[in-house]
Amino acid sequence: MPVTPLHYPFAFGISKVNKKLNLSGLVVGTVFPDIEVPILVIFFQNILPDHLVLHSLIGAFTVGLFLAIFVTKYIYPPLIGRLFGLNLERLRAECDITPTLTMSVALGIVSHLAVDLLYHPFNPILWPWVNPYSIIGPLDIYFSTFLGGDILTGFLVANVAINIIMGSALALIIIRTNESRWERIWIG
Ligand SMILES: [Zn+2]
Repeated sequence: MPVTPLHYPFAFGISKVNKKLNLSGLVVGTVFPDIEVPILVIFFQNILPDHLVLHSLIGAFTVGLFLAIFVTKYIYPPLIGRLFGLNLERLRAECDITPTLTMSVALGIVSHLAVDLLYHPFNPILWPWVNPYSIIGPLDIYFSTFLGGDILTGFLVANVAINIIMGSALALIIIRTNESRWERIWIG
């Protein structure tokens, strides 16, 4: 996976393409699926893969969407507002549950699943109907063929490449947003 916060540039980018969308909802949606990773690693090591329910379409758009909307409304405003010294009233108003917010969270989740699908060596996108290990990211296949190595090698190269691209995009966003930086980065 890209380090989870590195999914952020998709939230920012989507909010620029369609300015009606809600940036806060997009931000939570783009990072939310990875919340299951530490839980799966700590409690289900050697039993389940470290990406599963929230990285499947069925899980992402039922329990995932529901929980992500909850987090956007109740956890994002006090957490981000205090950390970055934002106007709490404005942030809370932005995070009210509306059809636009719901759509924004859902789009954020879609972007997360799409990025992961590109280069994860296994993908639970169609879990529980299709074995996650039978869906290999096309970038892993490409790099492993190109470099003459195995899928793991392809994954390592793709992972580094994606993280560099997303990390650079994030750095650019932070550097170039110099006026009311944190307001524009977290609320839009
Ligand atoms: Zn992920």
